Amino acid sequence: MRYERLAAVTLTCLAATGCGERSTATKEPSPTPAASAASARDVHSYSNPAEVRVRRVDLDWDVLFDKKILRGSAALSLERPAGGRATSLVLDTRDLTIEKVESSPDGAAWAVASFSLGPSDPILGSALTIRVPENATQVRIAYETSPKASGLQWLEPPQTAGRKDPFLFTQSQAIHARSWIPLQDSPQVRFTYRARVRTPKNLVAVMSAGNDPEAPRDGDYGFEMPQPIPSYLVALAVGDIGFAPISPRAGVWAEPSVVDRAAREFSDLESMLRAAEELFGKYRWERYDVLVLPPSFPFGGMENPRLTFATPTILAGDKSLVALVAHELAHSWAGNLVTNATWRDFWLNEGFTVYLERRIIERVYGVRRAGMEAVLGLQDLEKEMAGLPEKDQILHVDLGGRDPDDGFTDVPYEKGALFLRHLEEVFGRQRFDRFLRGYFDHFAFRSITTEDFVQYLRANLLDESPGLAGKVPVDEWIEKAGLPATAPRPKSDALAPVEAAAAGWREGKIRAADLPAQDWSTHEWLHFLRALAPALPKEKLAELDTAFRLTDAGNSEIANQWLLLAIASGYDPAYPRLERFLTSMGRRKFLKPLYEELVKTPEGKTRALAIYRKARATYHPIAVATVDKIVGWSG
Ligand SMILES: [Zn+2]
Repeated sequence: MRYERLAAVTLTCLAATGCGERSTATKEPSPTPAASAASARDVHSYSNPAEVRVRRVDLDWDVLFDKKILRGSAALSLERPAGGRATSLVLDTRDLTIEKVESSPDGAAWAVASFSLGPSDPILGSALTIRVPENATQVRIAYETSPKASGLQWLEPPQTAGRKDPFLFTQSQAIHARSWIPLQDSPQVRFTYRARVRTPKNLVAVMSAGNDPEAPRDGDYGFEMPQPIPSYLVALAVGDIGFAPISPRAGVWAEPSVVDRAAREFSDLESMLRAAEELFGKYRWERYDVLVLPPSFPFGGMENPRLTFATPTILAGDKSLVALVAHELAHSWAGNLVTNATWRDFWLNEGFTVYLERRIIERVYGVRRAGMEAVLGLQDLEKEMAGLPEKDQILHVDLGGRDPDDGFTDVPYEKGALFLRHLEEVFGRQRFDRFLRGYFDHFAFRSITTEDFVQYLRANLLDESPGLAGKVPVDEWIEKAGLPATAPRPKSDALAPVEAAAAGWREGKIRAADLPAQDWSTHEWLHFLRALAPALPKEKLAELDTAFRLTDAGNSEIANQWLLLAIASGYDPAYPRLERFLTSMGRRKFLKPLYEELVKTPEGKTRALAIYRKARATYHPIAVATVDKIVGWSG
């Protein structure tokens, strides 16, 4: 996902012609679920996949908007390692009410199984331990979710674009799948799934699986996901949503009033897919669609396979923020195809994805734009790393005792991408691209640890050229804080004139009206505004605002950067917009820095609390947890 940046952040595919079976007809999954490279110890799961492993999941739910719960069952098909005779299956749950558990040797004859639910840990939830006979190959759990399930967000009609119907969407990464499905909620366990979902008749359900735009709107939907995925990629959304095709294998789902605008914004989806395939190998998930969610989605995007979930805040009208879609698409290789085995290996998902994202942008939109994005990325990293303890500046981060949602920063994203860029620079692009393709092929549909990656890197790149390998301090990159002295420093010729303009205007040598900004892209504007940070005299902001109407900027990234500057400078004409911005979307990338900037002064803190009091109920639980801490929320 854009587990976003600038924040303790969080994480995020689609379909093609004749995609997915919406029927519930029996069909064998195509690729065989591959074993993970190893059973790495996952401190964020109670489960015991080394003894018995879930291989397939059959889900059946009623979506009850009035009670804000899912009620139904999950049937899990089990596999034991050769010779294994495990009689205890341990699953992860959080706030689930378990009604009944059964086991079966063949999926036909079911017998009641005994189970126990362990104490509830604030981070991990409760272990569900099920006694199963040695010959049991399936377990079926009847259960319902809690209205406060951390992975489900239930929106009231006013929180949607259409304002007529409620909306439900899920966010499973990192460890929220357990709040809506009893599972081995560890990224090293991969399974295929099928689902049957019953909804109010006028609404549509979509999942990270085959979605059929032609399915009748009858409140009864069937899904099949034939490729094995980890639990954090199971996703569901229900609402008044429609579809617009972009190419035979790509399209957009969104509320009816948003769908055409989204299709225009994402009209380069097919070009991005082709660019990615030319670089990294075949796209293995059949379809790629994007679901644009209502504005309370806490992330930029979440790479749910076949159906990326995305924030509407990237609909800028000029495609300037579509890097986020390139990012989620890149996850179809990095993350979804080759997956981090535990959350401390998260940089394998995100560092690779940011690197791939920039390569896709370079191909589709050119070197100039990719270069600017790399510079802005480095700025984000340096700014954030300066405030992080050393232990959190490490790619192979220790998350023991911590919620993975709190541990994520720009480090796995931007530092991870810089590491790969360093390898590219030392070994040459052609050779590194060959290595990458080999890596994705070798580990396809597997979950791997940092150690697995290093071993593969040594065998397939470093050991072939010891002279070149000596230039890349692999251990320092992965296990040490900060950046190695030889780390790449992305530069952009396009941004140098912007810096000069910022300095000239700041010093009063140029008037705002004379700034060469008419042709500036979003990236140039962001760079300009960042160069003015942290604060300016109010009159200076007023001059800029008069010339460029920044308080009214429709582009969410520019608005965010401007509002940060406005808060720090005490520029009160921007405050009504600040309140509208903070009460109209719930993207944590924007909420976190803005609230943080506000609480730096007593007046700002009062303003933050007044705005948050209105906005809190409209934010996602993940965003609420973040902002509660910033403003010191006590109800
Ligand atoms: Zn990501």
